[in-house]
Amino acid sequence: MEEAPLQFIETWNAWGKIAAIGFIALAMIRVAYHFLTLLTTKDLKKKYDFIILKEISALWTAVVLLLIGVGILANSFIAEIGVFWFIIRGFVTLVAALLIGIISSNMLKFYYPFNLEKRLKRLRFTPRISPKSGKPMKLMSEDEEDVYLDEGMQAEENVFSIDYDVWLDEETGFTKIEKYSGHLHATECPECSYQTYKVIKEELLRKPTSTEDGELIKYYECGFCDHRSQSNHRIGQLVIHDEQKDTSKEAAS
Ligand SMILES: [Zn+2]
Repeated sequence: MEEAPLQFIETWNAWGKIAAIGFIALAMIRVAYHFLTLLTTKDLKKKYDFIILKEISALWTAVVLLLIGVGILANSFIAEIGVFWFIIRGFVTLVAALLIGIISSNMLKFYYPFNLEKRLKRLRFTPRISPKSGKPMKLMSEDEEDVYLDEGMQAEENVFSIDYDVWLDEETGFTKIEKYSGHLHATECPECSYQTYKVIKEELLRKPTSTEDGELIKYYECGFCDHRSQSNHRIGQLVIHDEQKDTSKEAAS
């Protein structure tokens, strides 16, 4: 078997270590950036949105960078070996990295959401502090909140898997309205119990008016086991506001 030229191996070892450290550092920076941003974000709703939009992709990017870094590092302490073994070694590393990558990707998709869900619930239901009185506000129930939502919001809430949370400062009447999108948010699948059950389509059978209920069908699909189901929903009548409410509103989207 032909020996790999010594010069090449030396150069490869030296640059490999530098590149490896670079990739590993980038992986750590990616994760640190995400969690530092979370730590420095005070608003709970903004934290919620940041987690739901960014966390899994941030972790996945870090995993890929880390695997590339560790893979190169593992191959940058090469003594004099033949070209054949150099290639075999690289190939084995690649296969191992791909396997770990696939396992990590599945963990992030199917197990990690359980952890995510717990944190998101806490963020969503921790009482908001009123900027007017400095006191915790009260979360309105589905029935109470319609008074605070305009007709567009009420219709949207019923049709597009969107939830509005209305927080009321009972002392001053200040309200904070937060919008949560159901499409971004998976729930527990009744079939496989993973946190992968999502609304994929909605069909409005009858629009609600100010005098009559509406009706809606929601179609669900599981991203893990492909379980599907549909359910009918009654849509409450719209509460029409006679006059513009006197309360100050802050709509956070
Ligand atoms: Zn399922």
